[in-house]
Amino acid sequence: MNLILLGAPGAGKGSQAARLKERYGIPHISTGDAFRSNIAKGTEIGLYAKSFIDKGLLVPDEVVLKIVAARLSEPDCEKGFILDGFPRTVAQAEALDKMTKVDCVINFSVDRETVMRRLTGRRSCSCGGTFHISKLTSDVCPICGKKLYIRDDDKPEVISERLNVYEKTTAPVAEYYKAKGLLFEVDASKELDEVYDEIVKRLG
Ligand code: ADP
Ligand code: ZN
Repeated sequence: MNLILLGAPGAGKGSQAARLKERYGIPHISTGDAFRSNIAKGTEIGLYAKSFIDKGLLVPDEVVLKIVAARLSEPDCEKGFILDGFPRTVAQAEALDKMTKVDCVINFSVDRETVMRRLTGRRSCSCGGTFHISKLTSDVCPICGKKLYIRDDDKPEVISERLNVYEKTTAPVAEYYKAKGLLFEVDASKELDEVYDEIVKRLG
């Protein structure tokens, strides 16, 4: 099953991807995580990507496409995959169509206010886990025990730019898949469990 999770930053794609990955036994591919791991390792791609990410802008398509193409050709993607944070432009969606077949696109719809609240309270871990401050009792990761941090792009000034970019550049990707009959809308303002149930009811 080749799945795409689409939706604004803070819509909850990463949280659902972590659960769906366990359920279906297919890898979770997050382009944002891939960039952050490149930044942490100080690679050339990481350095280049950071200059866009810190401003809330998209990393240019060529760079993203190279990373995704390499990842999708790895053997663990043969049974399927969950793409999270990609495609983010119509050009990326068209390029993906040339690489592989897409089975279902889950569109996480959520209002701007909810997203702001989630992102400004988000604490992240290098293991990929993300948590809302309201549900934490300490500053370490409940999954792996490492110290949590606030992503540079989760600062309020950067968040509003990311949301603008989302509305202008990424929202049209939903229309692209809708026209192909692949889009499945979920109300992502609900609690994690409810959103998960809704998705699983649809996917089986
Ligand atoms: P979020 O969904 O919370 O905004 P991500 O972790 O998916 O965060 O992405 C963080 C940043 O990485 C984005 O704001 C963007 O700069 C860059 N990025 C991730 N995926 C893509 C992509 N497909 N195309 C361009 N830039 C991307
Ligand atoms: Zn962790």
